[in-house]
Amino acid sequence: MIPATTFHGRKVALFGLGGSGLATAHALVAGGAEVLAWDDNPESVAKAEAEGVATGDLREADWHSIHTLLLAPGVPLTHPRPHWSVELAEAAGAEIIGDVELFVRERRAHAPQAPLVAITGTNGKSTTTALTAHILRNAGRDTQMGGNIGRAVMTLDPPAPGRHYVVECSSYQIDLAPTLDPTAGVLLNITPDHLDRHGTMEHYAAVKERLVAGSDTAIIGVDDEYCRAIADRLEKAGGKVLRISVTRTLENGFFSEGAQLMRAEGGRAEPLFSLEGIGSLRGRHNAQNALAAAAACLSCGLSPAEIQAGFASFPGLAHRMEQVGRLGHVLFLNDSKATNADAAAPALSSFPRIYWIAGGLPKTGGIESLRPFFPRIAKAYLIGEAAPAFAATIGEATSYEISGTIAAAVEHAARDAADDPAGDVVVLLSPACASFDQFRNFEVRGEAFRDAVRALPGIELIGEKRA
Ligand code: ADP
Repeated sequence: MIPATTFHGRKVALFGLGGSGLATAHALVAGGAEVLAWDDNPESVAKAEAEGVATGDLREADWHSIHTLLLAPGVPLTHPRPHWSVELAEAAGAEIIGDVELFVRERRAHAPQAPLVAITGTNGKSTTTALTAHILRNAGRDTQMGGNIGRAVMTLDPPAPGRHYVVECSSYQIDLAPTLDPTAGVLLNITPDHLDRHGTMEHYAAVKERLVAGSDTAIIGVDDEYCRAIADRLEKAGGKVLRISVTRTLENGFFSEGAQLMRAEGGRAEPLFSLEGIGSLRGRHNAQNALAAAAACLSCGLSPAEIQAGFASFPGLAHRMEQVGRLGHVLFLNDSKATNADAAAPALSSFPRIYWIAGGLPKTGGIESLRPFFPRIAKAYLIGEAAPAFAATIGEATSYEISGTIAAAVEHAARDAADDPAGDVVVLLSPACASFDQFRNFEVRGEAFRDAVRALPGIELIGEKRA
C-alpha cells in the first residue's frame, strides 16, 4: 500500500467505499489524514467502519474544515449529473480528486524520477498496459502495474527510485487527476463510447488530452481525427510528441507495415520490431497497442532487443481475442471483452473466415458499422436480447441462426465449422454487446464460452486462464 503522506494532518472527505474507494481510505489513514468516509450503501459503510475507517454522512459534515473530496471510481463528477457530494464540495470550494491524483502527488514527493507510464484511449488500454508492464518486468525492471486494471493504484508498492509504474487510466480517473504528470503518457485512440458518462465527444476528448498534455513524452495514436488534433496541438505548444499509426507511414514516429513495426526519423524508416507469429498480438489493433508499448518502453530506456523479447513472451489478456482451444482446423477464440461494435471490429478484421457468436445487451448503433466484415462471416450465432435486431441487420448478407445461449451457439458453431471445406477457420465470441442481460459481467460471459468449448469432445485446450 502507498500511504498518502501528502495529506498528513489534513481533513479529507471520501465518497464511495467499494473496493478501490476503501483501499484509498486506508492509504489516506496510513498517511496521517483525518478521513470521513461515506457511501449510499450501508453495508459498505459498515465494512469500512469495521476496518477502522471513520465514517459519517457527508451531508451533515462540517465542510468549512474539509479541503478535499476524494471520489471513488464510478461516482459521477459531471455526467449524467454531479453526485450530491460533488455539489457539496463545490459549494464549499473544496478540491475534488481521485486516487490517481493521490498517487502522482506521492510520487512527486518521494521519487519524482520513478518512471511512470500512464495509458488511456477508448480501446486497447488494458492490453497496452499489461504489455508495457510485461516488457519492463521481462527486462528485469522493478515494475508495478495497476489503476483501471488489476490493483487499485494506492494498493501498489510505494514510489521508490528505479521503480517503474504502469497505470491504466479511464477518462474518469483522468478527470479526477488534475496534476497527472507521467514520464510517458499514452493516448491510443478516441472513438465514441461511454458518452453517457462524459456528455459530449468534445468533453470526452478534452479529458483524454489532459493525460498526454501533462506528460514528458506524449505517445499518441494518430489514426483518428481527435487524436491527430491533440498531437498537433501539443506539438505546437512545444511538447515532445511521438506519433504512432497503423494506417499510414509517418515521416517521424512509429508505424506498422503488416507485422513489422517501423521507426521513422526525418522521412527515413527502419524496421525495429516484428510481431510475426506472436499469437497474443494478432491484428492491426494489437499493432497499435504494441507500437505504443514499444514507444513507452524506449522512453524508459529499454533496448529494442529487450522490447522484442517482451513481445515474444507476452501471454495476452484473458477475454481479448484469447485463444481458448483447437479442434482440428478450428480455432476457438474468446473476445468477450468486445462489448460494442468498435471493439468487435479488430477481431472480425483479423480472420478471413469466421463462425461468429454475437449478441447480448445491445448498444446504440448495433452492428451496422460491422457490415464490411459480413463477407468474412461463414455464419452468425446470435444470443441474448440483441439477437432479433442483429438478425435484422444481417438480413440476407450472410447466414445466421438465433442460438439464444452461448452453450448452444458454441455447440452449433463447432459442428458447422468442423465441416467447413475452407480449412483454417475460427469460432469467435466477439459479442459487440454488453453482457448484463445473461451474465454478471464480460468475464463471466467469457468463462461460459470457455466452459462450452472445454465440453467439446476431442478439444485441445490452449493455455490456461490469465490475469
Ligand atoms: P480497454 O482496456 O481499453 O477496454 P482492452 O485492451 O481490454 O481495452 O481491449 C478491449 C477490446 O478492444 C478487445 O475486444 C479488443 O479486441 C479491442 N481492442 C484492443 N486494442 C484495440 C485498439 N488499439 N484499437 C481498437 N480496438 C482495440
